Amino acid sequence: MHSMTLAEIARGLADKKFSSEELTKTLLARITQLDPQLNSFISLTEDLALQQAKAADARRANGENGALLGAPIAHKDLFCTQGIRTSCGSKMLDNFKAPYDATVVAKLAAAGTVTLGKTNMDEFAMGSGNESSYYGPAKNPWNLERVPGGSSGGSAAAVAARLLPAATGTDTGGSIRQPAALTNLTGLKPTYGRVSRWGMIAYASSLDQGGPLARTAEDCAILLQGMAGFDPNDSTSIDEPVPNYSASLNGSLQGLRIGVPKEYFGAGLDPRIAELIHDSVKALEKLGAVIKQISLPNMQHAIPAYYVIAPAEASSNLSRFDGVRFGYRCENPLNLSDLYKRSRGEGFGSEVQRRIMVGAYALSAGYYDAYYLKAQKIRRLIKNDFMAAFNEVDIILGPTTPNPAWKIGDKSSDPVAAYLEDVYTITANLAGLPGLSMPAGFVDGLPVGVQLLAPYFQEGRLLNVAHQYQLNTDWHTRTPTGF
Ligand code: GLN
Repeated sequence: MHSMTLAEIARGLADKKFSSEELTKTLLARITQLDPQLNSFISLTEDLALQQAKAADARRANGENGALLGAPIAHKDLFCTQGIRTSCGSKMLDNFKAPYDATVVAKLAAAGTVTLGKTNMDEFAMGSGNESSYYGPAKNPWNLERVPGGSSGGSAAAVAARLLPAATGTDTGGSIRQPAALTNLTGLKPTYGRVSRWGMIAYASSLDQGGPLARTAEDCAILLQGMAGFDPNDSTSIDEPVPNYSASLNGSLQGLRIGVPKEYFGAGLDPRIAELIHDSVKALEKLGAVIKQISLPNMQHAIPAYYVIAPAEASSNLSRFDGVRFGYRCENPLNLSDLYKRSRGEGFGSEVQRRIMVGAYALSAGYYDAYYLKAQKIRRLIKNDFMAAFNEVDIILGPTTPNPAWKIGDKSSDPVAAYLEDVYTITANLAGLPGLSMPAGFVDGLPVGVQLLAPYFQEGRLLNVAHQYQLNTDWHTRTPTGF
């Protein structure tokens, strides 16, 4: 029962093969048994889950039928959940119970999902290995000594280990696609503005976007359907009709133009990953796609630009955590300045402090033009590269990450080494484009992902290509031993 996809669960519930309550109890028991190895959850919400499952069963008994009605999921612990701890992976918010539900949480609950818990993550979503979490690292079910990716590492580890079929994540520079790649999942970062950010604790507001993590493209379509849509509470939400994503899965790939950027295959890419990406290109060619080499000439500037813009926005967003209004407050402050300093010094971990300092520096008078403004100009060049490429092709394809999952701790003394892992993912965030990662094979028993990028609001096209690929390959069905 635990290995069913969302689509299979929806069919099973509709055919009355089992109830949502039975399924929820099975998965909660499995989480209790296996999660100690993985540390993929920060909080379990058993009572809420059983209550939601019973309510979903009652709605089905009344003749309602929806793909998400009674489907168990979990939320990355930066989506606000009313009355439930929303820690953002930080000591700063360890005692924070959100006073309201994020739009994504509310929409999915209304569609009938069952929330099993809140998943582990890098502190304030800063990281790519889930190693900066105050609650300790989540582990990769494919190899428990290795990272599951980050920052949505807990969601990825839990779904990959079949603790549940799907979970929410957020992607500021790759945090849905990269953990999907490292754990053999399908993960989709939607177009900026497609999914509401209201109640999603901000890291870098111009880059953050929520999206689904699941095992198949078909399931990503189902979960995205429940998350997407205009939200008047989010001023960056875009009022654009939401297509039927499941209906887009079956289009033919005949004549689809796929662009493969030559810059994606330079130094730094594990040659074994390059080979698997070429295999996936061949598989898509067999389905009728036409392959074209393209160029994204400004890609080399993406990491430096991102690591100015994201910390700059973070330094501003995180100024609200001051020991007065939210979260952690130090003991016995001597005065106001001591209260600020010690609450922030004790409440934030070292990666978050590093980003706040880098960001505050980049925004300071005298340096703003040299760093922040320059980075914004690079951002425009990167967007222009994509616009030019999408005049010639329908989809851009390349690796999701340059390497498979690394050993926990291996990159902790060298933050830049971890930043370099984001080289293929952050350009989509800088340009606001949708991107998807899907399983493409294994290197030394560790999963590898292939990334697809599409023009604005073409999530359906990404899901279509991924679904057709998954009908013709079986990488996404592989299960980690022991789970
Ligand atoms: N690894 C990137 C960072 O640390 C991206 C994180 C994310 O997408 N939330 O900023």
